[in-house]
Amino acid sequence: MTLLYAAVEFKLVIQGENAHYLAMPLLEVRGLKVHFPVAHGAFGRAQGHLKAVDDVSFTIAPGETLGLVGESGCGKTTLGRALVRLLNPTAGSIWFEGENLTAMRGVELRARRRKLQMIFQDPYSSLNPRLTIEDIIGEALDIHGLAESKTDRARRVAELLQAVGLDAAHAWRYPHEFSGGQRQRIGIARALAVEPKLIVCDEPVSALDVSVQAQIINLLQDLQQQRGLAYLFIAHDLAVVEHISRRVMVMYLGQLVELAEAKELIRAPQHPYTQALISAVPEVDPDTKRRRIVLPGEVPSPIHPPSGCRFHPRCPLAERPLCVTDQPSLRELSPNHHAACHLAGR
Ligand code: SF4
Repeated sequence: MTLLYAAVEFKLVIQGENAHYLAMPLLEVRGLKVHFPVAHGAFGRAQGHLKAVDDVSFTIAPGETLGLVGESGCGKTTLGRALVRLLNPTAGSIWFEGENLTAMRGVELRARRRKLQMIFQDPYSSLNPRLTIEDIIGEALDIHGLAESKTDRARRVAELLQAVGLDAAHAWRYPHEFSGGQRQRIGIARALAVEPKLIVCDEPVSALDVSVQAQIINLLQDLQQQRGLAYLFIAHDLAVVEHISRRVMVMYLGQLVELAEAKELIRAPQHPYTQALISAVPEVDPDTKRRRIVLPGEVPSPIHPPSGCRFHPRCPLAERPLCVTDQPSLRELSPNHHAACHLAGR
């Protein structure tokens, strides 16, 4: 796969319109694979592997929001979980601030992992119902030794609740006493407690009402401005991803098929799969009249992915034999616009 991470120049606006600067990647993912053994038969022997994430490379710059879209089951969540090491990669490496996290173990890994946090789609199931909000957030402080005393812990929890727009007096309540949006704010406060630099946001607004979604998106953007946070923002809603992200990656069957600046991706998608995704949500680009592209068939099994280009059984443009035999690599077609398609840019 093309080493696109080496080719991307990071021009960012972190604070203020004129504060452009060039930065090295905060996170660099190289050839990441997460495969799960699939057991069959009476003895549960591994009969194959489910290739949830298969040779994925990308970077995230400090303070950047990188969007990740794709149909459910394409490997988005598995990728996010591998980044924060809730899952162990099968192969490849994850570099954070220039250090190889995949080569670390124990105390060393735990100390670095603090800088990478995750917020989840279902804020309720990710909060322990038996703990008060003070203890849910305080637990994260305790694990990393970030509170000097009980008083300091309570003060920090109060500050965090206020930072996410909640009343500090609610620290002694339990998760079930809050609405879905408030619970997501608590999840964000817990992630912020350990002073991360990157947060993997896994479908953080999909379970919320539309009006609450906007509030959470605004909160994430405000926190990014205040704290210089970077996000990997995973979602299936292209309109939300386009709104919040500087660049967007599109994933299909465990692999990246396109990566571009958000506006460019919506305006001029190069991969047939991205074109189909965008055609299904015309409101993301109301200025462009697109014909709806309906893809035939279902997403194939990641246990036995198709040969050549994994998208070829559903691709309206597939060329034989090329697309059936040769796997396309992610190529840079124009500055910062990459696509994995033999025909793209021709
Ligand atoms: Fe379609 Fe071929 Fe491009 Fe794959 S490589 S997306 S099958 S045209």
